[in-house]
Amino acid sequence: MGNRYVNRAFATLQKFLRENAVKDKILAKETTMRVGGSADIFAIADSLGHLRIVLDTAKEWGIPLFVIGKGSNLLVSDSGFPGIVLRLGRDFMAKRIDGSKIHAGAAATLPSLVQTASRHSLGGLCFAVGIPGGLGGALVMNAGAHGSCIGDMVENAVVYSRNCELKVLEKNQIKFEYRKANFEKDDIIIAATLALDHADTDLVKQQMEEYFTKRKNRQPLQLPNAGSVFRNPKDTPAGKLIEEAGCKGMSVGDAEVSTKHANFIVNRGHATASEIYTLLRIVQKRVFERHGVILEPEIELIGEFDGALMLE
Ligand SMILES: Cc1cc2nc3c(=O)[nH]c(=O)nc-3n(C[C@H](O)[C@H](O)[C@H](O)COP(=O)(O)OP(=O)(O)OC[C@H]3O[C@@H](n4cnc5c(N)ncnc54)[C@H](O)[C@@H]3O)c2cc1C
Repeated sequence: MGNRYVNRAFATLQKFLRENAVKDKILAKETTMRVGGSADIFAIADSLGHLRIVLDTAKEWGIPLFVIGKGSNLLVSDSGFPGIVLRLGRDFMAKRIDGSKIHAGAAATLPSLVQTASRHSLGGLCFAVGIPGGLGGALVMNAGAHGSCIGDMVENAVVYSRNCELKVLEKNQIKFEYRKANFEKDDIIIAATLALDHADTDLVKQQMEEYFTKRKNRQPLQLPNAGSVFRNPKDTPAGKLIEEAGCKGMSVGDAEVSTKHANFIVNRGHATASEIYTLLRIVQKRVFERHGVILEPEIELIGEFDGALMLE
């Protein structure tokens, strides 16, 4: 892709999005792992109109587009992303309570939704305490914990296609599975309705505290990470397999298999994406040698790794 096109696309985006369009934006600060090179263009769409402009511009100049949520499930390569990284902004953060339902924009964070639900004595979302994602990312990943997942609560999702068509998907049209959902690859989730249950406020708060304490005790929350690195195979948690393969505490540069939870890789300060990736591959190899199981990454690799471009 010629730089010429990026410059032209940027000129358009800057005209409409103003300071919400930035060139050569370092992505490390936009991910919880705190690694990653720059995106040619980083654009925040505050409204549906702006979203349309970003999509049209990417299409017009043939520029790859990646939608980032809160960046809590990503490993962005050191060479960054050659294209536009789009984030939903202001208008997509709104939340509205309607009886026992929450209508929310895709940029609303899970922690803020958990708090809103609790304030309105609505149960069911407590499992999401401490999951630092946005609603859009949570739906794509079918985020879950403590035996529940977001897919259980989704009543509908509103998506915007790359051709700028709005669609409402009812729950029976969306298939949620373990850490995945069947949204069209290019669709952008802009909002969703979650159906919750009325519950006693004190009980909701108690459950939130219980889940948060469990997380604090088990996960290395004081260091940058992207949550579980690998999906759990059917029979045994990935963390157990990794520990038994002797990988706990193993490091490459500043990337370390957490000594607290073996399915987390932490950034001890100055890790690079390439160090994290190398460590991920070593863990995969060791677990395969010890258990004959191929661990599948849960985190998404964005950009170039091993010389191959991974767009998703
Ligand atoms: C400390 C920590 C603990 C965690 N604990 C858990 C846990 O218990 N359970 C769990 O399931 N996960 C957990 N995670 C992982 C992560 O938080 C979830 O996967 C989360 O749902 C990702 O949301 P995000 O907004 O950060 O998405 P991102 O990481 O930014 O993106 C993830 C994917 O969603 C896509 N996406 C994001 N927004 C949209 C949108 N609006 N439309 C279309 N596609 C979109 C992206 O393109 C990408 O493919 C944890 C992460 C951390 C750092």
